[in-house]
Amino acid sequence: MRRAPIIGDPSYLERRGWVDALRRLRTAWRRAWTPRVPPDPVEWVEGGGVVLPSSVAARGIGGRLSFRARPYWRLPLRWFAQEGVETIVVEVASQCGKTTLDISLALYAAEWLAGPGLVLMPSEEHAEDLVRDRLRPIFQASPFGKGLKSNDLRLGGVSFPGGGNLNVIGVGSPNALKGRPARWVLFDEYDEAIRYGASAGSPLKRAETRTRTYGSLRRIVLTSTPTVEDKGIHPEYDASRRHEWHVPCPHCGAFQKLDLDRVKWPRNAEGDSSASPAEIKSQKLAWYECASCEGQWSDADRLRAIAAGRVHCLDPDRPTLSMGLHISVLYSPDVSLSETAAAFLDALEDPEKLKQFRNEWLAEPRREIVRTTSTDQAHLATLQLPDYQMPAPDWWQGEETPRAPDWVRAVTWGFDVQGSEVWGLARGWGDHGENCILWCGSFRGAGDLDHAAQAYCREWIVAGGEVVRPRAGMMDSGYRTHEVYRVCSLHRARGLTPSKGRLDGTLPMSMSAVDRQDANRRAVGRVDLAVLWTTYWQDLVAATLEAGPGRGRGVCHMPGNPPSYLFRHLTAERKVAVKGRNNQITYVWKAHSHENHLRDCMVYSHAAAGMVRLLELRAIRPVVAAPEPVEPAQEIAKATAPVATPGRPLSGMARLVAARKAQGSTAVQMRRI
Ligand SMILES: [Zn+2]
Repeated sequence: MRRAPIIGDPSYLERRGWVDALRRLRTAWRRAWTPRVPPDPVEWVEGGGVVLPSSVAARGIGGRLSFRARPYWRLPLRWFAQEGVETIVVEVASQCGKTTLDISLALYAAEWLAGPGLVLMPSEEHAEDLVRDRLRPIFQASPFGKGLKSNDLRLGGVSFPGGGNLNVIGVGSPNALKGRPARWVLFDEYDEAIRYGASAGSPLKRAETRTRTYGSLRRIVLTSTPTVEDKGIHPEYDASRRHEWHVPCPHCGAFQKLDLDRVKWPRNAEGDSSASPAEIKSQKLAWYECASCEGQWSDADRLRAIAAGRVHCLDPDRPTLSMGLHISVLYSPDVSLSETAAAFLDALEDPEKLKQFRNEWLAEPRREIVRTTSTDQAHLATLQLPDYQMPAPDWWQGEETPRAPDWVRAVTWGFDVQGSEVWGLARGWGDHGENCILWCGSFRGAGDLDHAAQAYCREWIVAGGEVVRPRAGMMDSGYRTHEVYRVCSLHRARGLTPSKGRLDGTLPMSMSAVDRQDANRRAVGRVDLAVLWTTYWQDLVAATLEAGPGRGRGVCHMPGNPPSYLFRHLTAERKVAVKGRNNQITYVWKAHSHENHLRDCMVYSHAAAGMVRLLELRAIRPVVAAPEPVEPAQEIAKATAPVATPGRPLSGMARLVAARKAQGSTAVQMRRI
């Protein structure tokens, strides 16, 4: 008699395909009860978690994903797994490998965080491209992709064995920020998202709503190139706990942020670039100059420094809830210094290109201009005095005493000190604040500061044939501080004063006694430092440059033979509104070109004139204003500094500015740059 099959008989089960089913059931059961501890994201990604097939990798070198050349991308990855972090804001230049970061974050999240996740791309096309050209090949090559079928990954989303879920969609799609909850949301180009559905609130707010159910387990990542200052990623970065990547100098070891100001290229005697942008790019003429020792870095030095860099937190007091990172193109291993310099020089020619350069290369937002001065080069040309010719660049080495226009009664100087050169500008002052640029130029090479002082000490022939020495001069002490102190203390009796600017002031000028050190950093005495509220003095300089044309109160005249760079420097600053943390707006002067040295010299020579009351020569009866609150602490407003007295804030020029505003001659315009 044939035995009835017993349930459990291996052969029977084998026949019915149940053994395999049971084994799978057992594995699934075990997996469900074994907690999956997410590894460190950086170790997971770089330890072989993500493998790039050569079709996807940069320069076709496939293999394990590595951040060796872009170590700063490890920061957002680590933050992603850090407790107490909910939002990550990465403000970044294009060409910095942002997509690699996005992919790493998305894959880590899908593999290790249970719950649905969302990658929002700028458009449906971008979403399709990312899935087809990048994600699918990575899935096929990486270990975690083994359990996934390649066509599993579609725009609708793919489920991961660990419970994670990855969806890639365009930010304009109706599902983008509505619908089911998500544990994590990643915006690939956040500033694109702000173009859609603005009425429904900021995309970040909507992402927060969508992730609310996950509480502190949620993650929102914004990566983007910035556009404007008050919308999109920039205000989010500004409000976050901001981080930068600081790199060590190969020569002196000083850690610093890579800055466009320190990218140098060959220049001629007039300070203009001596090569075309195309030549700089093709012959690799640019280099980087250390902010500390002025040593030169090649591109290879720069890349080594980036690899050896470290994070620098700008706001250690802020909570870790929102973490920010700023990366400019200078950190990209794919873009050389010469390419950056050439792009910058190209952009200088055209305001539109300059905007784009700021956004895409420097990862800086364009600014809202609240007031463009009418200081344009065409206006400056109308201020030229045909019968005054400024002396030759090296006149101060000669014997001849130069003659100022016959209405000039006194002379002041302003000096802007740079790393390897000193810019100087002499002003002649007549009545009622009328003035004239007598000479401008630069001193270079060894002894530049002493040569500047030598020029300062030279006499001028002024009104009535009188021979006078300059009454006062101010020398910027921002760079090479103690060298400046040394030179100024040598010529203190002749009125040469070191100065420094500050943005937030209540007094136009205050005096402060500071220690002077020699080359060995030993204190060798004290020196009086003039602290200038730069916005105040810049306003006065703008007013004098915008006055005229023709002879008159407060007009600044130009020499009949201005050098080519003078007008360029004088128009290099604009007043812009800057929104603070609490949405408070302050107005500051910002250079929109790096060639602004003579504009700074104007500020210093103007403050020098204020110090010795030249601005009020024959001014009408001074108005006594109500005293302003005196600033406390270290700065001693000395009685010897007339402008520092709060009751008399340079009434002549101030009234001039007010009068010009009333006449409507100070153009106030709203314009975007
Ligand atoms: Zn250095």
